[in-house]
Amino acid sequence: MKIIRAEHLGMCFGVKDAIALALKTARQEPLTILGDLVHNETVLAELRAQGIQVAQQPAEAATHTVMVTAHGASERRLTETRDRGLNVLEATCPLVHVAHRSLAHLVREGFHPVIIGKRDHVEVRGMTEDLSEFDVVLSEEDVANLRERSRFGVVSQTTQPVEKARWLVQLIRERFPNSELRFIDTVCQPTKQRQSAAIELAQKCDVVIVIGGAHSNNTHELVRTCSQFCSRVHHVQTAADLREEWFRAEDTVGITAGTSTPDSVITGVEAAINFVAVKALVPAIYS
Ligand code: SF4
Repeated sequence: MKIIRAEHLGMCFGVKDAIALALKTARQEPLTILGDLVHNETVLAELRAQGIQVAQQPAEAATHTVMVTAHGASERRLTETRDRGLNVLEATCPLVHVAHRSLAHLVREGFHPVIIGKRDHVEVRGMTEDLSEFDVVLSEEDVANLRERSRFGVVSQTTQPVEKARWLVQLIRERFPNSELRFIDTVCQPTKQRQSAAIELAQKCDVVIVIGGAHSNNTHELVRTCSQFCSRVHHVQTAADLREEWFRAEDTVGITAGTSTPDSVITGVEAAINFVAVKALVPAIYS
């Protein structure tokens, strides 16, 4: 069995920086993170072990200092939190700031804002909560439900597949040929790199293992992308989820991982697949 890793995989700089800020702060004072810093249970357990608390709302925070995650927050939410007397640390990824600024620019220029993304995702809420009017689209049906506007200004949630974003933009153009449409591509570079590396990987592998949290949007997108090029794709959160029957001795096995998956989990999964490979080669030892 041959095992290969995708050229780009795993935790992005935005999530790494946010975790580093949380750990550094927690060494100096009690800290509450507002919402899930990452959609990865292994990382969240490590943070809890350092005494870091998690609250979904500022009102639930039991510490003076609270941290906004890499996914960012709206100005309204930040102001409300500060008005409660809380000290707000921002771990918002610079590339999420780019998406916020791009959207604000389009609105200032008089475009009706459209966000390609998941309506209930924290990043999308952070982008839309300051707006009085906006639309969020993620499907053909969502585009069909849009009302005609003279000018559409479109941005994307940073972790959406860029091809999907371009497809939805094209659908909007076709549905409203008389409207002006400006699209600012705000899909982040790490997401693009992981998506294109996953395609390359899936094309040359018999099996692909995608490692990431159960609620991680970009992990689910990697599973979906790989499934277009490989018929045996499995999503695992940790090595414990692997099943021996997924693998055959002659397989080339590809490994990729979402942007919130820590290196230690990737290494653990790779080691476990290696173990299965050795076991397949010398079954007598393990029988
Ligand atoms: S996925 Fe992209 S935008 Fe989100 S934290 Fe990572 S680098 Fe930043």
